[in-house]
Amino acid sequence: MHPVDLIRKKRDGEELSAEEIQFLAQGAAQGSIPEEQLAAWLMAAFLRGLSLAEVDALTTAMRFSGEVFDSSTLGKFAVDKHSTGGVGDKTSLLVAPIAAAAGLAVPMISGRALGHTGGTLDKLESIPGYRTQLSLKEMESVLTKVGASIVGQTQDLVPADRVLYALRDRTSTVESPYLICASIMSKKLAAGLNGLVLDVKTGSGAFLRRKEDALFLAALMVETGERAGTHTAALLTNMDQPLGRMAGNWIEVWESLELLQGKRDPLSEDLRELSLALAGWMLFLGGVTRTAEEGRQSAEEILTSGEALKVFTQMVAAHGGDTTPLGQPAQFHKPGVSKELCAERSGYLAHIDCTAAGWAVQRLGAGRERAGEPVDPFAGIEWYVKLGSPIKAGQPLCTMFSGQASRFSEPEALLRKALVIADKPVEEGPLIQGIITAENRKEFLKTTNPS
Ligand code: URA
Repeated sequence: MHPVDLIRKKRDGEELSAEEIQFLAQGAAQGSIPEEQLAAWLMAAFLRGLSLAEVDALTTAMRFSGEVFDSSTLGKFAVDKHSTGGVGDKTSLLVAPIAAAAGLAVPMISGRALGHTGGTLDKLESIPGYRTQLSLKEMESVLTKVGASIVGQTQDLVPADRVLYALRDRTSTVESPYLICASIMSKKLAAGLNGLVLDVKTGSGAFLRRKEDALFLAALMVETGERAGTHTAALLTNMDQPLGRMAGNWIEVWESLELLQGKRDPLSEDLRELSLALAGWMLFLGGVTRTAEEGRQSAEEILTSGEALKVFTQMVAAHGGDTTPLGQPAQFHKPGVSKELCAERSGYLAHIDCTAAGWAVQRLGAGRERAGEPVDPFAGIEWYVKLGSPIKAGQPLCTMFSGQASRFSEPEALLRKALVIADKPVEEGPLIQGIITAENRKEFLKTTNPS
């Protein structure tokens, strides 16, 4: 086989065989196909799209391009939740301990901040000593002891994605539903999951902003999961504003701890609601409850009883983390400097460019400019308003935290443009905008995928 023939084939809109796709994925993992040819094929795939069979073949080839986790040794239903990326999205810190407390195993392989979105690993690493880089053997031992383990991708897990993702990042080929699906699902399936709940974001802070694109991605991922024998459901959720009231690293752990401790803040209610819905689906897929709604109720009982907090604390300790800050999150938060952003006029908060708000969080130091750089654990934004909030001129809209005052100017300019205050209140979209399951997935694949 010759890479140039496979590039031409995809360029001309033809379908590749499973063997041809396997050749490309293996070539990426082993470095035997030059980057320029892989990049050209990715652009052809971005522009032409892939058939369902091609997505399935690419996901499978990437999944088995390195080591895989065998969850059958755990003797429990293995379930995970994965989000396509958001701002202030810390549901992983809540749903993993809830599902583990319900008796399920949660091998959660998470990522770092990507573009304007935050990363679960960066948040957890704000806890001193928390090790995210465990071997699969070490992850298995944490899962046996605690039931949940949130870790980073190992060097040998899905190496094809490591290469292809880095290339997509440099060639503007990230935002393809086909390539996103293969990238996410190959990693999730390599973790040996029996069940998977996907949180597919839509709106101004999502990678795929248009609802029909997000629906198609959700259906594609459910299709791919089901073809691989993993029960998969996807919730289409609103990312028109940051989730909860904190966006950053430690401050997101702090907000999660408050909910785990049973505290309720009106500005954290959307985070609580979404976490319970996602956990409800995990419990349902895992056979703990008969419906997702019953799962939601069980999840709420587990959250309010303090059981989930117990698991979270045990998980932090099992990963080598210091559990002292968990008991005093406000005292542990030591940003170098902070600055309030105040409203310039009265009215109602009518629109947030949530991607720009995410960039503001990253530029305060919560994210990195280049791969491998350290992040500031205390940088981020605490919000005081939500979409639809009435606003008085001069009132604080949020507080920015950073290591240095010189970092404030760019985020401040981004936020001034991102937050739109209007004369009239606006209708807010629902938090959960759709649910795609094994039963209804074909509907969305049919209506939105021309091929
Ligand atoms: N997250 C991933 O892991 N891959 C993508 O392509 C997009 C988001």
